[in-house]
Amino acid sequence: MSRLPVISTGITTTPSGKPPHQVGIPGWLSDRYGRQLRYLRLSVTDRCDLTCKYCMPEEGIPASPRSEFLSFEEIVRLVRAFRNLGVSTVRLTGGEPLVRKDIEHLVGMLRDQAGITDIAMTSNGSALAKKAKVLVENGLQRINVSLDSLDALRFQTMTRGGKLERVLHGLDAIQEAGVSETKINTVVVRDFNHNELANIVDWAWSRHITPRFIELMPLGEGARLGREAVFSVAEMKAHLCQHLELSSDSSHDIRRGPAYYLYSVTDPTKKVGFIGAVTDNFCAQCNRVRLTPKGEIRACLASPDGISLKELLRTGAQEQQISEYIASALFRKGEGHEFYTRGSDQHHQVDMSSLGG
Ligand code: SAM
Ligand code: SF4
Repeated sequence: MSRLPVISTGITTTPSGKPPHQVGIPGWLSDRYGRQLRYLRLSVTDRCDLTCKYCMPEEGIPASPRSEFLSFEEIVRLVRAFRNLGVSTVRLTGGEPLVRKDIEHLVGMLRDQAGITDIAMTSNGSALAKKAKVLVENGLQRINVSLDSLDALRFQTMTRGGKLERVLHGLDAIQEAGVSETKINTVVVRDFNHNELANIVDWAWSRHITPRFIELMPLGEGARLGREAVFSVAEMKAHLCQHLELSSDSSHDIRRGPAYYLYSVTDPTKKVGFIGAVTDNFCAQCNRVRLTPKGEIRACLASPDGISLKELLRTGAQEQQISEYIASALFRKGEGHEFYTRGSDQHHQVDMSSLGG
């Protein structure tokens, strides 16, 4: 067997004396706080065809050489190792996942070779129309499309050149292709789009789409917009309640991520989601793991530090060894992020465009 690189994750045993991968449900990935990690966000590229103001600098970011990215075969090997640890959902993200060549093949490989049944994608939707059918045929089940405004000019301003019409065509195409769930993600920026929320909800509900509103996070370019630009979830709800009748009960499915939902009083099949990334610290329930295009695991979105799996893959590690390494690395997942708190400047260095939100 080939020699493995010596990489220390720093933790080899738990308080019970068991190795980290044996804590929690046997064989399942969990961290030292007992959170079961079931959801892998897989960033497949740091490239993007847009430069949204809260995410990328105007000039874009220097493109990494493609050879530094994991190949589809390498991704599948890693995802199998994650699956062996109980990860059941994989969400493809980026940068923009649709700019990665032949991304639809990866979707098929994740289903057929890695055995993942819940495959989702987060996309800006600009190039969705032409790939929608094949993505769904190859196993894409759920999609979240970023849509910050229904006003073409405002959309163009926020995305620095994006065309609203293309995104709307993409949404039509993916729904026609039969995807099981469609959501839109709207980052709410005070005095930019906060007055549009009720309109966005009406529009989305009329198309069987679930809208979700996200607080602006101080990550990467988002940090430059400043604390004042954050329109809190509490403000979003107050604003929406002036226009819509929403139930006071909320639901939160922790297996599905940090959003929680309010329902239409007149039609409880319709819901609107909120992600209070800044004001509602959801870390205690976080079940996510992130993998960058270059094969680094990030236990938390707010962390600039990663642990590389690429070397392990490229030196011929077996699936079981990779699983054990992942389990031990993720055991260190921190308790929570520290947006806008003392001494937390580090997250300004986090690159949302390579980490994928
Ligand atoms: N390009 C794809 C897209 O835009 O959907 C996927 C990657 S993007 C980084 C993932 C999500 O992160 C998007 O919904 C985007 O709106 C969100 N996002 C990016 N920067 C953000 C920020 N500073 N605060 C909140 N959400 C942000
Ligand atoms: Fe690209 Fe998505 Fe970032 Fe916008 S939010 S610049 S679409 S990666």
